[in-house]
Amino acid sequence: RELLRIESLSAGVEDKTILKNINLTINYGEVHVIMGPNGSGKSTLANVLMNNPEYDVTEGHIFLDGEDITNLSTDKRARKGMFMSFQTPMEVSGITVENFIRTAKSTIEDKNISILKFKKELKKEMDRLDFDESYAGRYLNQGFSGGEMKKNEILQMLVLNPKLAILDETDSGLDVDATRVVSEGIGRYKSDDNAVVIITHHKELIRSVVPDFVHVIIDGEFVKEGDASLVDAIETKGFNWIREEVK
Ligand code: ADP
Ligand code: MG
Ligand code: MG
Repeated sequence: RELLRIESLSAGVEDKTILKNINLTINYGEVHVIMGPNGSGKSTLANVLMNNPEYDVTEGHIFLDGEDITNLSTDKRARKGMFMSFQTPMEVSGITVENFIRTAKSTIEDKNISILKFKKELKKEMDRLDFDESYAGRYLNQGFSGGEMKKNEILQMLVLNPKLAILDETDSGLDVDATRVVSEGIGRYKSDDNAVVIITHHKELIRSVVPDFVHVIIDGEFVKEGDASLVDAIETKGFNWIREEVK
């Protein structure tokens, strides 16, 4: 069953084209990994999928559950079950982690959420992520370490339970233990009723899930697709052999 389809998508900023003719189909239950050199367009793709207004789609379409969402706003995409974890999360003063996630959840689900039930769920997930409970009452990302910000992103994913999660280098800045709990969090989230797109440079992050497809993006183009073994090949050999292959 198809969840997301990207058709001949080109996108960029102002006069600059960043993504060129991207085609991708993601079915329910699948794990897709996207790898590529720095500056190849990975974060741009994630942002375009969420309709970050900094980027313009110049060609192509995006379909979610068969519906053309190419022109749908970010908040409407979120309500339809799309979620993105930022490579560089925002700091927000005056809003606590708990309030932020509860507000997001009640907005997305379009209903009031029992505070007690929510608190319980939040605490349970924080515990599993090895994330100190006191952070629930702290302002969003303010004074958080890189690792704490990333755990907070995964906490949001687990509590909001989107049908499509896009994780942009959620392992960057994480130590070995934090990478493991984040990976396990992705494993807990993953089900037959959702799909996840994982942008990463390392295989540690995907230890708790099995990638169905690994896509390589170079200079804004998808140039190669493979299975999980491609992650190892790239970790040991880098991207130059793929550049040679593509030539
Ligand atoms: P990656 O995530 O793969 O490292 P990005 O998607 O962040 O790559 O960037 C791809 C290219 O697009 C880079 O050359 C980057 O400088 C450029 N780019 C990305 N976002 C912007 C922007 N908002 N304005 C101008 N250039 C951008
Ligand atoms: Mg990036
Ligand atoms: Mg990125």
